[in-house]
Amino acid sequence: MRLSTRISSVGESTTIAITAQARKMQSQGLDVVSFAAGEPDFETPAFIKDAAKAALDAGDTKYTPRSGEKLRQAISAKLASENKLAYPPERIIVTFGGKHALYAAFQCLVNPGDKVLIPAPYWVSYTEMVKLAGGEPVIVKASSEQGFKITPQQVLEAASTGAKILVMNSPSNPTSVTYSPDELAAIAQAVLKTNLIVFSDEIYEKLIYGDTKFVSFAALDPALMDRTVTFNGLAKTFSMPGWRIGWAAGPGDIITAMRNLLSHETTNPVSFAQAGALAAYTDPRSAQTIESMRVEFEKRGRHMAQRLSAMPGVTCVRPTGAFYCFPNVSAHYGRSIGQTAVTNSTTFAKAALNEARVALVPGVEFGDDDCVRLTFATSLQQIDKGLDALEKMLK
Ligand code: GLU
Repeated sequence: MRLSTRISSVGESTTIAITAQARKMQSQGLDVVSFAAGEPDFETPAFIKDAAKAALDAGDTKYTPRSGEKLRQAISAKLASENKLAYPPERIIVTFGGKHALYAAFQCLVNPGDKVLIPAPYWVSYTEMVKLAGGEPVIVKASSEQGFKITPQQVLEAASTGAKILVMNSPSNPTSVTYSPDELAAIAQAVLKTNLIVFSDEIYEKLIYGDTKFVSFAALDPALMDRTVTFNGLAKTFSMPGWRIGWAAGPGDIITAMRNLLSHETTNPVSFAQAGALAAYTDPRSAQTIESMRVEFEKRGRHMAQRLSAMPGVTCVRPTGAFYCFPNVSAHYGRSIGQTAVTNSTTFAKAALNEARVALVPGVEFGDDDCVRLTFATSLQQIDKGLDALEKMLK
């Protein structure tokens, strides 16, 4: 075979593939509402764009042999003040999006055959990143009855297989549930009884709703600092998905290894995008910008969950964070919708696209075939338009 066995074991990311398919249909003049990619619809704030433009004009166009010292200082200050985490700039690495930070960390820690615990439902790319590093994803199922959250007992049982890493993601993509600080503290205590290293993906940190509280995993116990890598990025918080700026903070040996990897792989993210990121973390206007987007997402999420729950044969948990609804639609399996025999989440998504012109992502890609994922990172008007069509299809 021409391709490596490594790459042959993975396909294209479904979130990306379905988004591309919806865009293609739109460019062909078809009126498709896309609830596919979790990508904020707001423009990047003007002061952030201005900082990047100013950096370009000032000649900030050279290699960044190490990601910018000032940006890492700003992230270090953010971690200290907002997350109660003391990471000096040397223990922070800036990457091409949060996705790249996770990919690099798996490459640096996973040996062939190493087991990585991934609570399901999970974000599509975790399992594939583990496989690309030669590891074995071990799924720890969190059913809807347990609120899509794993228990400390499950962590202990799964760790007894000799697993090396546990991936945590709260608020979660795709379920939008958030672990309470107490629930997370109980998971942390279970982790401390094992040898697990935790990858805490905190990309949805700022998108929390109602009385939900966010806490960083590594802040739950001093002993976790040496056992946790914290991941974050600017895509969701500052509406900067296309800028591709993310980061990781963690133990010195892990961050140094990631830095070595990036020195061969990318020579670090785009110089002037880093300048935009620095403005995002240091400009006093950021707080208000983040809050206004959060308020809007909260409104949309409540509305989408209410409307989905009112549809025949659909149950939907109200999101406490992130920007997804992950309704259970399995009551419709066994039906024919238009030309499509609906038997699972993939055929449900196919029917939604063909019959209702609504793009959504099958739950099977996130490890739960009873559900489908819709993002509410789009306007209320688009949400209503897409849900009207979906409702009509299901009736
Ligand atoms: N994380 C977002 C999502 O799940 C963006 C697309 C991706 O990177 O998967 O839709």
